Amino acid sequence: MNNCIFCKIIAGEIPASKVYEDDQVLAFLDITQTTKGHTLLVPKKHVRNVLAMDAETAKITFARLPKIARGLQKATGAQAMNIINNNEPLAGQTVFHAHIHLVPRYSNKDGIDIHYTTHEPDFAALESLAKTISKEVALCD
Ligand code: 5GP
Ligand code: ZN
Repeated sequence: MNNCIFCKIIAGEIPASKVYEDDQVLAFLDITQTTKGHTLLVPKKHVRNVLAMDAETAKITFARLPKIARGLQKATGAQAMNIINNNEPLAGQTVFHAHIHLVPRYSNKDGIDIHYTTHEPDFAALESLAKTISKEVALCD
């Protein structure tokens, strides 16, 4: 058995408050509860993060997301929801088993402040960058 905390939760070796489970995925309440109902959705197959995920695991995991999100919204009465995924430490990943955060939102004082810095668009630079990226995307699985 590996040392992964989410694999241990999946295996039932450590407890978690489960909100959805089938043979492929598990959703359970995040221990920190950023807001009431803060949930994590994980594939049962151990994979480091989305960057390392195969298409089949992605398909299975993301297919379950709207169902769980809708149930969570109904149960909590949340007005809105942030669905967040962190990949690698620089992006805030602290547990290295892929997971998606579902964070129900109740007000603008929920303790989440997602701010995207904006830049004046340079359309030539955007086109050139898109070309570079699309070439790499075409070569990836
Ligand atoms: P990350 O920072 O990797 O995107 O998110 C990891 C999340 O896992 C954190 O929000 C943290 O609160 C949660 N977490 C870490 N250990 C446990 C645990 O043992 N049980 C549960 N339910 N959540 C955990
Ligand atoms: Zn794991």
